Amino acid sequence: MKGISNKEIILWIDRYLADPRLDAEAQLRKRWAWIWMVVTCVFVIITSFVELVVLKLWPIWWFGIVFWAGYLIGFPLYRRMKRFDLVINILFTVFIVAALFAMLQTGGITTSLGFIFIGMNCAMGSMLAGNLRWTIGMFVTYCMTIIILGLFQSSLTTPEYITPRINTLSFVGLTVWINACILLIVILFMKDKSRYEKSEAEKLRKIDEAKTKLFTNVSHEFRTPLTVIQGIAEQMEQHPEKWMQSAPGKIKAQSQLLLRLVNQMLNIAKIEADEMHLELIHGDICRFIRYIAATFQSLADTMKIELILNQQEVPIYTDYDPDKLMHVLSNLLSNAIKFTPPGGLVSLIVSKTFEKDKKFTLISVRDTGRGIPEASVSKIFERFYQVPDKHDQTPGTGLGLAVTNELIKLMKGKISVKSREGKGSEFTVLLPISKTAEKVADHGISMICSETAHPEITKTRIEDKTDETDHESAEKPVLLIVEDNKDVVEYLQEILQKEYNIELAPNGKAGLEKALEIIPDIILSDVMMPLMDGFEMLEKLKADIRTDHIPVVILTARGDFDSKLAGLSIGADHYLVKPFNEKELLFKLGNLLELRRKMQQHFGTFPFQSQDENSEFKPEYVFIKRINTLIEKEMGNEDFGINDICFSMNMSRAQLYRKFSAITNNSIGRYLRSFRLHKAKELLEKQGKNVTETAFETGFKNLSHFSTCFHEEFGFSPHKLVR
Ligand code: ADP
Repeated sequence: MKGISNKEIILWIDRYLADPRLDAEAQLRKRWAWIWMVVTCVFVIITSFVELVVLKLWPIWWFGIVFWAGYLIGFPLYRRMKRFDLVINILFTVFIVAALFAMLQTGGITTSLGFIFIGMNCAMGSMLAGNLRWTIGMFVTYCMTIIILGLFQSSLTTPEYITPRINTLSFVGLTVWINACILLIVILFMKDKSRYEKSEAEKLRKIDEAKTKLFTNVSHEFRTPLTVIQGIAEQMEQHPEKWMQSAPGKIKAQSQLLLRLVNQMLNIAKIEADEMHLELIHGDICRFIRYIAATFQSLADTMKIELILNQQEVPIYTDYDPDKLMHVLSNLLSNAIKFTPPGGLVSLIVSKTFEKDKKFTLISVRDTGRGIPEASVSKIFERFYQVPDKHDQTPGTGLGLAVTNELIKLMKGKISVKSREGKGSEFTVLLPISKTAEKVADHGISMICSETAHPEITKTRIEDKTDETDHESAEKPVLLIVEDNKDVVEYLQEILQKEYNIELAPNGKAGLEKALEIIPDIILSDVMMPLMDGFEMLEKLKADIRTDHIPVVILTARGDFDSKLAGLSIGADHYLVKPFNEKELLFKLGNLLELRRKMQQHFGTFPFQSQDENSEFKPEYVFIKRINTLIEKEMGNEDFGINDICFSMNMSRAQLYRKFSAITNNSIGRYLRSFRLHKAKELLEKQGKNVTETAFETGFKNLSHFSTCFHEEFGFSPHKLVR
């Protein structure tokens, strides 16, 4: 036994007694009661030897036979039967009754050789099996045997072979032995109990953690549709005739999203309560999968992803549950499409395969998307698990794959995943092929319930509407809305189009590209979006000199303080939590633009000076300062112009124009000329240079052009300043 720890023995016992039909607690009881049986069995071996061989008590040999026969039948039954408690209780009852007869034979309580404790031992052992009724029954039976012995004591005679010495010896031996057994079991029991309680406490803690995570995720998922519904209701109140037609459809679509979420949670609850049952049909699974793939085609097209189905020509006839299979495939396909960038490939492969001589349908969903980090692959099927992304803002609850995994288990199948970060993922499902269910004409297509049917299709996504948007009219500021939910976009457009020229982008990546292209006056962005979330976009915008001045309002469903802080620390100018109030949004956007106007006044007065120390850290200040340094350096170079500034700042002409006028409300060309002329004035006034020298040093080769410009700028001729 050297080298084998208690833990290993316990592990071996658990493996030996393992029964998938039992829950953890029953399994634990089975273990305790089995140890008790083994200990008493050892005790029987030793006493049989002492009583028969050493003390030569041959007349009670039958008692040993009863024990041996009991264990021989009892042990295998105990291991295999689900009702192991019945096996042990019946066995122990037989032993109690046998002990009664043995005591009657040896002359009653006083000359019982200690058999009186055997019954007590059995009754206590029954406690471990955890069946209260039987335990009570056993104690009652044991008491009855003692009462019977008491009643018959006077009429019993002690046989000759029971001498006082044998009686005392056996009595002491048995009592010590039985006490030792009880002590051992109590120790084991208490140890296990505390371990069990600890694991229960850990389980409760995990459930608690999961609950909190669920609430956060679920409330987040609920907020977006609710924002849209609330917004539409507000619009209906204000412009009933306009919204009467389109509103019901939109509200319905959002309700469907909510319903799907609720259904997902109900599915988890059903699985948990063992109430999810298979409704199998028999049909060609390939045909059914073809149908599902077709329903995803339009989503793939919208996301500019190629979806291909690769299956053998021959049909695969098997039993399957159409609704559950639909759920599984929907989750795998929508994930693959969600996490694959435009231009990527998603393949659905179906074939027949063999494993350990059993036939299986193999379904594999492969994508060329972002892949899953190695550390996350093993956790991907856990409930509420989401691959941590930079800002923990991937939409979803982390329930999809957990439900999928449970459903596949219910179908007696297996799911596995292989993934390489940045390269793609492959989810493989193996479902056993069987033929017991009834054949259905349309291969189960009509049996899919509408709520499970393909979640992402109901979530309308917007396309990049660049070309459709009206060209901006000069007066209104340009607002870029970055949001992936079509209905939220429509609602925002509705309330903002009066005051802003609106540009749209369906995700952070497109938003960033658009912002660089058009340099909008203000950006309103959602956080959770495919391809690039709002925070990442914000970070990139604020790190880029071309866009770092643009005020950004983050619109999110996450109302918790940490998310807010994260957004603000990256540089968001405001943070609005969905569902937001229309007036609040308008007010905040207006406020930011008002601040911008004040800033323009500051930077627009020439030459500008920083008004406070902090302004030196402002991106606007840094930008103007860089331009000033450039102009200063090239002051005498007549050929130096806007193209050179663009080159040095790594900006296109349009970007420079847009950014410069956003900060100063002035054009860069005019600013360059003013800068030169102010320098000229300074040279004339303070350094006493003549007009020709001054014009030359400030980059004006043509003297009369210099004079005209100077007059335009200051209202008098440069000659006036010559001393
Ligand atoms: P949810 O229900 O929130 O969509 P899932 O359980 O379906 O969550 O997925 C859990 C996580 O697994 C997702 O957040 C995502 O990060 C990751 N994931 C799932 N499928 C893929 C895939 N095909 N490519 C990359 N990541 C994936």
